[in-house]
Amino acid sequence: TFIVFEGGEGAGKSTQARQLSVWLRDEGFEVVSTREPGATKLGMRLRTLLLERGDTPMSPRAEALLYAADRANHVQSVILPALRRGAIVISDRYVDSTLAYQGAGRELSRAGMERINDWATEELVPHLTVLLDVPPEEGLARNSGEHDRIESESEEFHTQVRAGFRDLAARDPGRYLVLDARDGEAEIFREVRRRVRRILPD
Ligand code: C5P
Repeated sequence: TFIVFEGGEGAGKSTQARQLSVWLRDEGFEVVSTREPGATKLGMRLRTLLLERGDTPMSPRAEALLYAADRANHVQSVILPALRRGAIVISDRYVDSTLAYQGAGRELSRAGMERINDWATEELVPHLTVLLDVPPEEGLARNSGEHDRIESESEEFHTQVRAGFRDLAARDPGRYLVLDARDGEAEIFREVRRRVRRILPD
């Protein structure tokens, strides 16, 4: 079973992903908690390249391909092996982040993003994607500390990203759970648990 958390900056994905993995382990499942970008050794180096606010200009297509490279390595060396041995995989971000950030945000064609990602992932699709939806101004305000290269983008960029995520969820409602990230942490987790129960193996 493959579960993904998606959402903009400061949506609380990591907190929810962590709580879900604790709960599922308590229930006796083997859980592999992972994230993008940066779950593998190569991925960590790509993450640095992608997020540092250095002086290396990056074209949108190069950015999309680097995220896809991180994802290809992630799928091949972490996600697929875990799924094959029957573990539940919980990932903080996956393909939808690319469709939202590089597709909607950078205005690259969705068809192109889908093509490189289908190839990178060997068409592995999550069983459930939880979208924590938050208005960018609130999410960014929650993320204190220094902003990375993407977080430093304009509010317009983040507004397009948010619309991108919501659009993906609207196209495939059966595979998504969309929650308002402004609700309380406990309330959100209750909804997540309720939905995850329905897709758990016996
Ligand atoms: O979720 P986390 O904050 O670790 O993500 C790292 C950064 O990578 C975020 O700023 C996010 O906006 C960015 N990102 C992106 N495109 C992706 C995945 C993540 O711009 N496909």
